[in-house]
Amino acid sequence: MSSSEEASWISLFCGLRRNEFLCEVDEDYIQDNFNMTGLNEQVLHYRQALDMILDLETDVALEDSPNQSNLIGKAVEVLYGLIHARYILTNRGIAQMLEKYQQGDFGYGPRAGVPDRCPRVYCENQPMLPVGLSDIPAEAMVKLYCPKCMDVYTPKFSRHRHIDGAYFGSGFPHMRFMAHPEYRPKRPTNQFVPRLYGFKVHPTAYQLQLQAACQGHPLE
Ligand SMILES: [Zn+2]
Repeated sequence: MSSSEEASWISLFCGLRRNEFLCEVDEDYIQDNFNMTGLNEQVLHYRQALDMILDLETDVALEDSPNQSNLIGKAVEVLYGLIHARYILTNRGIAQMLEKYQQGDFGYGPRAGVPDRCPRVYCENQPMLPVGLSDIPAEAMVKLYCPKCMDVYTPKFSRHRHIDGAYFGSGFPHMRFMAHPEYRPKRPTNQFVPRLYGFKVHPTAYQLQLQAACQGHPLE
């Protein structure tokens, strides 16, 4: 985009630092009513919110009522997030997210500064992907999924902990590796082995600890 053009709502929104995990949804995708099926039932002020995302004139005088303006502002964000969750399951969306992943936009790349890779020692700094624990907005904030140990982690940076997980959905990383299995890293070859004075801790020791805990008197 040339600097003389006015930036679109989508690129401004995705350009915010806290929204680094989000990709820019193609406007053609949003303009296709079929892709928006059912969203009008999930988001209040759907029509105005959609107009704002697409930079269309909206009939509501937002400045007249700050409350109304806040509500619509929230609705726009939720609507964009839900569209985003659908979009990143399409070939186009997967490709865009893949590009972000390779550029390191998910909290561990040059843009984000300090690396934020899987904290598990035996995952050896594996880059992670955003994932939702729920597909319903306002239930859980975004998490990062490690494709090596297949577990989820809280993002390292607090600015990334306030994005709704539903904006990514619970299926994104799995769809991504189904579409591109070649990107699935190999399972870690090493595993943590608990040792005490150099000897492996026998599984029976854990059973005894568990029994003691259940009976309410911890082992001395
Ligand atoms: Zn891991």
